[in-house]
Amino acid sequence: MRRNTEALHALLADVDRQQRRRVQRIAERSPRHGSAAFSAVDGRLLVNFCSNDYLGLSQHPDVIAACRAAASEHGVGSGAAHLLGGHSAEHQSLERELAAFTGRQRALLFSTGYMANLAVVCSFADRGEVVLQDRLNHASLIDGARLSGARLLRYAHADADAAATLMQAHESACLLATDGVFSMDGDVAPLPSLADSCREKGLWLMVDDAHGIGVLGPDGRGSVAAADLDSEQVPLLMGTLGKALGCFGAFVAGDDQVIEVLLQRARPYIYTTAMPPALAAAARAALSASQREGWRRERLAKNIARLRSQASQAGIPLMPSATAIQPLIIGDSASALQLGERLSAAGFLVGVTRPPTVPIGSARLRITLSAAHEPEQIDALIEALAAGLHALRNDAALANPA
Ligand SMILES: *Cc1c(COP(=O)(O)O)cnc(C)c1O
Repeated sequence: MRRNTEALHALLADVDRQQRRRVQRIAERSPRHGSAAFSAVDGRLLVNFCSNDYLGLSQHPDVIAACRAAASEHGVGSGAAHLLGGHSAEHQSLERELAAFTGRQRALLFSTGYMANLAVVCSFADRGEVVLQDRLNHASLIDGARLSGARLLRYAHADADAAATLMQAHESACLLATDGVFSMDGDVAPLPSLADSCREKGLWLMVDDAHGIGVLGPDGRGSVAAADLDSEQVPLLMGTLGKALGCFGAFVAGDDQVIEVLLQRARPYIYTTAMPPALAAAARAALSASQREGWRRERLAKNIARLRSQASQAGIPLMPSATAIQPLIIGDSASALQLGERLSAAGFLVGVTRPPTVPIGSARLRITLSAAHEPEQIDALIEALAAGLHALRNDAALANPA
C-alpha cells in the first residue's frame, strides 16, 4: 500500500462496500452485574450471548481472589520471558496441573492461543514439508502454516477421508492440525479417524481444543478426552485458558520430549514476556473450580438443550451443533448485521460473524451459551430471534415484491 491518505481511504471504502467494517464497542462484564451473563454496552445492560466464558468462571469469586492475592504477592508483570527469569512457581504449578488434567506428561504455557498455534505449527513443520488443515480451522493455525514456510493444503471440512487422501498423495506431509470444536460452526472434528490416519502415515496430529477444554469430555477434559485419545493418538494438544476457564493464555500438552522440542524451537514461546504470574494463579483457581463444580457443565448442557428445543419449536434453523456454539446462518452480511442490531435493541448482545471470518454467503449470528444463563434469558432470546427473523422476511418481501 502506498503511504498516502488516498490509499487508506480506498482501502476503508472497500471494507465498507463489502459490509466488512469491524467496530470496537465498549462492553463491560462485572461481578457487580450479579451474573457473568450480562454485559453493559453504552450504558445498557444486555444479556450476553457472545462470550466464550462458557462456565462463567471469569467472574468466580475464587478466581478473582486468587488473581488478586497473587498480584499482591508477586506484583503484576512477570518481567521477562519464561527462559530468562519470567517463569515463576505459579507458572510451573499451572503447567503440572494442566498436564495432569489433560493426561499428558508435560504442558507448556503460552501467552495466547494464537501464539501457541504459531509455535506448534512452526516447530513441527519445516519449509519444503506439507501441512494439512481442515478448511474451517482457526486463523491462527493457518497463519502458523504460512509462517512455517511449509506448504499448506486444506481438506474439506471435517472430512477425514479427504485428509487421508491428501496424506497418501503427499509424501512430505508432516503435520495435520484441526480445531477440536470448530469456532464458527460449533461442530466437533472426526478425531478418531484423523488420529488413525496420522498414526498410520506418520504425521503429527495437532488438536486445537480452544472450545473443548473445560466443557467437553469427562470433567471437561476436552474433545480429545471425549474421544478417549491418548498422547500416542493426539501427540500435540493445545488448549486455551481464556475461554471456558475464564482467564487468559494457553498451553500445549504432550509427551515430555515433544514439549521439550517446543520449548527449544518455538519462537512465540522464547521471544515474548511470560504471562503475569497472577494470571497463572487465576487459571489454577479456575481449573480447580471447574473440577469441583461439575454443576456448571450440567447447567451449560441444559441451556444448550433448551435453546435447541425452543429454536426448533419456533422454526429457527440453528446449525447442527451439540456444543456451546450455536450458529444461525443468515446469508448476506447486511441482513445478519440488521438482525444483530434488532437483538441489541431488544436487550441481547449476539455476535455477528461475516466474511472473511466465515465463507462468503454464510454470514451468521454466532450464539454462544454459558452456565451463567438463566432459562428465562434463553426463552426471551428465542422470542426476539423469531421476531427479528420475521421482520427480515417482511423487509425482503417489500424489497422484492412478487
Ligand atoms: C480463540 C481461539 C484461539 C486463540 O486463542 P487466544 O488465547 O484467544 O489467542 C485459537 N484457536 C481457536 C479455535 C480459538 O477459538
